[in-house]
Amino acid sequence: MITGTIVKGIAGFYYVKAEDKIFECKARGKFRNVNLIPYIGDLVRIVPEENQVTGSIVEILPRKNLLIRPPVANIDQAIIVFAAKSPDPNLQLLDRFLVLVEEQNLDICICINKIDIDMEKDYEAIKDVYEKAGYKVIVTSTVSNTGIEEIKNELRNRTTVFAGPSGVGKSSLLNKVDPHLKLKTGDISQKVKRGKHTTRHVELLPFKEGGFVLDTPGFSSLSLENIAPNMLQNYFREFNTYRAYCKFSECSHIHEPQCMVKQKLDEGIIDKGRYERYKLIYNELESAKQRRW
Ligand code: GDP
Ligand code: ZN
Repeated sequence: MITGTIVKGIAGFYYVKAEDKIFECKARGKFRNVNLIPYIGDLVRIVPEENQVTGSIVEILPRKNLLIRPPVANIDQAIIVFAAKSPDPNLQLLDRFLVLVEEQNLDICICINKIDIDMEKDYEAIKDVYEKAGYKVIVTSTVSNTGIEEIKNELRNRTTVFAGPSGVGKSSLLNKVDPHLKLKTGDISQKVKRGKHTTRHVELLPFKEGGFVLDTPGFSSLSLENIAPNMLQNYFREFNTYRAYCKFSECSHIHEPQCMVKQKLDEGIIDKGRYERYKLIYNELESAKQRRW
């Protein structure tokens, strides 16, 4: 019996990477009956057949986590990518990505790509805001090869999902860190066309230096509506240090008096832009909640 990772599933077969080989496996019947079905990313024990090409999955090892969209188990971290220019950064969108990933309790790294075309270095102010909020920020360019080593260091021996809008350079970055990955890059309309005509399977791509990356940009839906408004503050990590000092334990940091988050905002310790985007999302979640009643 050997242990491996399910990297792909097609038509009832699971492809398990173990000992540097890929085994085509069937799950033994007992998995179908109990509530346990194998997911991409699962760590499994397999019994290889003599041919060393096929085998059976006999056990699924305990999961660290399970994402529903995309359906994949044992993700360690998300790298959220956006561009310094072209397309211009949309911080509202970035914060929504962050909320979704924080909710999944993954490690997070922010990547600002295409810094080669940001002549004024506007990205530096953004980097500063997010570093102060408590995130690791890596600035990159696939043109001038900036930050590629740092991205490699993040990926090594971990399972990573790349998230971020289309066209910011996610595929280009992955090809830079590992040319074996050979991801399609290019203009958005081509990709949309391709997406329409092919069925997308979720697949983990083995990174040559160890670890896996998910082939699809995760978090395709940016809908936050399943998040209760009072939970949202948990996903703005810079609030966490101060909320214990708010007068009201249920403080939303919006209209309550003696709010430590608002005090830190006035002192310039919490970023105004981040706070405004928190309020915007909070109000949106509140009205979605009212509509449901
Ligand atoms: P994805 O949709 O996020 O996977 O983005 P792609 O990797 O397909 O890249 C979108 C476009 O941006 C392509 O035309 C790339 O050549 C270009 N691109 C990617 N990285 C960089 C970069 O660092 N600098 C510049 N100037 N262009 C880049
Ligand atoms: Zn408060």
